[in-house]
Amino acid sequence: MLLELKDINKSYFQGKQEMPVLKNVNFSVEEGEYVAIMGPSGSGKSTLLNVVSTIDHPTSGNVSIDGQDPHKMNDDELAHFRRSTLGFVFQDFNLIHTLTVGENIILPLTLEGIHVPEIKKRTEEVAKMLGIEQLLSKRTFEISGGQAQRTAVARAVVTNPSLLLADEPTGNLDVETGKAIVELLHNICESGSSVVMTTHNLQLLKDYPGRVYRCADHQIVDVTDEYMPRQRTIEIDLNIDN
Ligand code: ADP
Ligand code: MG
Repeated sequence: MLLELKDINKSYFQGKQEMPVLKNVNFSVEEGEYVAIMGPSGSGKSTLLNVVSTIDHPTSGNVSIDGQDPHKMNDDELAHFRRSTLGFVFQDFNLIHTLTVGENIILPLTLEGIHVPEIKKRTEEVAKMLGIEQLLSKRTFEISGGQAQRTAVARAVVTNPSLLLADEPTGNLDVETGKAIVELLHNICESGSSVVMTTHNLQLLKDYPGRVYRCADHQIVDVTDEYMPRQRTIEIDLNIDN
């Protein structure tokens, strides 16, 4: 199992008052799985991803990614682990506006001290895969929302993460562009990363090619059967004598 959450509780506190968000959540993702988590605003989707990505700590419970608990690492170990194993994509793209598209993409590679020829090769590969190879020298204000999200996805996958986390990656895009991003994330999954994305856009989950979970009432429940294209049973007439 690539990702395993065991008995995760997460509460926020307002003064002494406890506001539970996640209660005894058990959730796991296998290698190569493509997972969507849907649920209303405020149900805890971002909290769940933030606990996985260590942006936030659980109140109790265990997180295991690739057999390791990132919440138990020291700062140096964690920084390396996050850059080598995890990729993140956010709703508002989180690009650095003083850099070009290409410079945004190479950022995680330069932080890991990878050599320049390898950086160039990897950047060109992901830019091509995401269809933004013509945009590398453009500034982020010169590109569209869809292109900005492709750039953010390129930056997240340029390190070949085992686990790509995408929090409402289609939230600021029109439906068609959103569908294209969901398809790109699926391609990335097929090329070897597990992908977990959150969305509250139900239209995107029609014919969704992976597992679907619902986040509600402090729990995460597998609802894949409600969203998968219905499997048709083919009745074959075996009585060949009539
Ligand atoms: P979603 O992503 O599904 O919209 P969130 O995980 O952002 O939901 O939020 C779940 C609940 O936790 C909400 O009630 C929200 O107000 C609360 N919450 C989230 N982050 C914080 C925080 N840093 N401090 C206090 N409450 C928070
Ligand atoms: Mg959210």
